[in-house]
Amino acid sequence: MTVQSSLLGPVTVDTTGLSSFIPEEAIASDLRETVDADAAMIHAIIAKSLGKERLLPRETATLLNVRDPELLQDIFRGAEQLKQAVYGNRIVLFAPLYVGNRCINNCSYCGFRSENSNCQRTTLTEQGLQDEVEALIDHGHKRVIMVYGEHPQYDAEFIAKTVEQVYRVKKGRGEIRRININAAPLDLAGFARVKEAGIGTYQVFQETYHQETYESVHLAGPKSNYLWRLHALDRAMEAGIDDVGIGALMGLYDWRFEVMGLLHHTIHLEERFGVGPHTISFPRIEPAQGSAFADAPPSGVSDADFKHLVAVLRLAVPYTGLILTARESVEMRNEVMRFGVSQMDAGSSIGIGSYAGEDEAEDKSQFELGDTRTLDEVIAELCRANYIPSFCTGCYRLGRTGEHFMEFAVPGFVKRFCQPNALLTFTEYLEDYALPATKKIGLELVEKQLAEMADQAMRERVEQRLQKIYAGARDLF
Ligand code: SAM
Ligand code: SF4
Repeated sequence: MTVQSSLLGPVTVDTTGLSSFIPEEAIASDLRETVDADAAMIHAIIAKSLGKERLLPRETATLLNVRDPELLQDIFRGAEQLKQAVYGNRIVLFAPLYVGNRCINNCSYCGFRSENSNCQRTTLTEQGLQDEVEALIDHGHKRVIMVYGEHPQYDAEFIAKTVEQVYRVKKGRGEIRRININAAPLDLAGFARVKEAGIGTYQVFQETYHQETYESVHLAGPKSNYLWRLHALDRAMEAGIDDVGIGALMGLYDWRFEVMGLLHHTIHLEERFGVGPHTISFPRIEPAQGSAFADAPPSGVSDADFKHLVAVLRLAVPYTGLILTARESVEMRNEVMRFGVSQMDAGSSIGIGSYAGEDEAEDKSQFELGDTRTLDEVIAELCRANYIPSFCTGCYRLGRTGEHFMEFAVPGFVKRFCQPNALLTFTEYLEDYALPATKKIGLELVEKQLAEMADQAMRERVEQRLQKIYAGARDLF
């Protein structure tokens, strides 16, 4: 099929034989028919989720329809309990790394859209990328997500080469140990090439699962083809990438429908490949340069709706990682972290070249950030709230993909691997990068966590490794 790109003319995407696996009518009827569920029904659904079972679409719709304030509190409590029981109090930190903002698509909500002539188009040079990565390492980061506009210049080879370059960078005692990607959908050969470069997760957000709305906001370029995008992660998995991330841009269409779309996408991947997505993202639309969506997204998602949707997602897919980004304010981030968010970005800068010193100029950024704290500030706050910041990349580097599933499915996995590795990677951060005040509260938290470890053999093992870290060893997992 040929689609029109606003910059390059016709572009071909092959969607032969593809159809939608999002049952729009069934979603609408599930949402329509579950508005009057009683408390007993809601409690039974929450209990099922606490038993670590993925919810059915109709059960999820039932939770999405809850409006009674007391029942909503029950949903929040359920999500919090599930998070504590399965994942504990770790939170994995990462940073976005924007590589280039050239783009042949015209997505109405994005500052990089081709029609935005005020956007200053830039792509990091080899030296520019080196500088960005060194700056990220100097801040203490170990995990990044590399972000690209969609443009022929950013083909699979370019993406793979930039990933390989980032893995090669060493600075002081640091390096980037896991690279995830957020880039346009590729074909099979393209996905295979970026897998070869050693990526962690490949993320592609569907933006909206509602096809008519999708077509009304994606005005030109390959992205205007709903099916090409919807099947992107099928192609990624066929090409051997087993960690994929899905997402919806909340505010384009009814958020309840989008949560149902994310669930159906999860079910589709589970049915086809035996494993669902590694992570789910649920960004709300933020103001973007010149975008008509800045002040009034077509389907606004209030703060109360946002909390509701995060808690329901946690309960609906208990074993999938949930990512919360710095698009949200500090207050909102602190609040919804409790409901089951497992990863968040910190110290983020979304201009091209902005970690290494350039201003995060509006004309080079995709949208505005809600949380502009430094990594060290985020870490200090997390410690005060008793969360353990983690930079762990152990599973991925031991070939154990689908780490969230392991955490969830293998009894004792979190206690044996995740918590110790979180403490070790956090201590590396405290030793190498933390400001003195952060180091003090961080080390106190590590001591407290060690004291609370019930398994004495495990505690001794972690203590031995901590001694090695204090003596200068790094990357123990
Ligand atoms: N160009 C690729 C694509 O569209 O898939 C990947 C990079 S794009 C910059 C990453 C994501 O940013 C998009 O999938 C979209 O959900 C999100 N995004 C775009 N504009 C946004 C806005 N104004 N507010 C919040 N998120 C936005
Ligand atoms: Fe380009 Fe992605 Fe922005 Fe769309 S969301 S305009 S594809 S960078």
